Amino acid sequence: MIHVILPVGLLQCNCSILGDEASGEALVIDPGDQADDILEALQRHKLRVTGIVVTHAHIDHLGGAQELKAATGAPVWLHPHDLKLCRQLQAQAIWLGMPAPQPTDIDVEAREGERLRIGNRELEILHTPGHTRGSISLWIPAEKKLLAGDTLFQDGIGRTDLPGGDGRQILRSIKDKYFPLPEETVVIPGHGPTTTLARERALNYFLQRL
Ligand SMILES: [Zn+2]
Ligand SMILES: [Zn+2]
Repeated sequence: MIHVILPVGLLQCNCSILGDEASGEALVIDPGDQADDILEALQRHKLRVTGIVVTHAHIDHLGGAQELKAATGAPVWLHPHDLKLCRQLQAQAIWLGMPAPQPTDIDVEAREGERLRIGNRELEILHTPGHTRGSISLWIPAEKKLLAGDTLFQDGIGRTDLPGGDGRQILRSIKDKYFPLPEETVVIPGHGPTTTLARERALNYFLQRL
């Protein structure tokens, strides 16, 4: 599987391009900004986008989705609990002092247990609320990889002081949805370096009492 991690935008959101060499199919996760650079990376690997998945409706993860959708025709996936946040892109842009992107049309509800495919790989959607009500993570069993959005970082967890945030719920999500996964699972957070579940369970301060 091709996996390109492209930090995009002001807040350097980790946008992931997951591609299948054989079929040329790709999924783009969290195209927060720099749609041009994402399209260039897709072209370089000769990939065709079949889906755009947004882990939650913060502007740094969602900001480039509509532009990418317009260029590729691929449907945009978002958990229904984040639709309200998605409609507040303009306000989010003002808070961050950045220009507002085009409003994003959501095509598919990314619900718990839903599966996406690229080639013969399956991605399972885990609903992991806490950072926002509709935050999701993507679990790729064949690769033992977890795309965690802003739920878990190396040495940290997502902030829960923004609208829809819940400090207790984010810890419950990590315990209930991440802890059953294999320890060696590689975690790609929404920002910052890649880590593993084993490392975070051993060293991440926020996980010590779970
Ligand atoms: Zn966020
Ligand atoms: Zn973020």
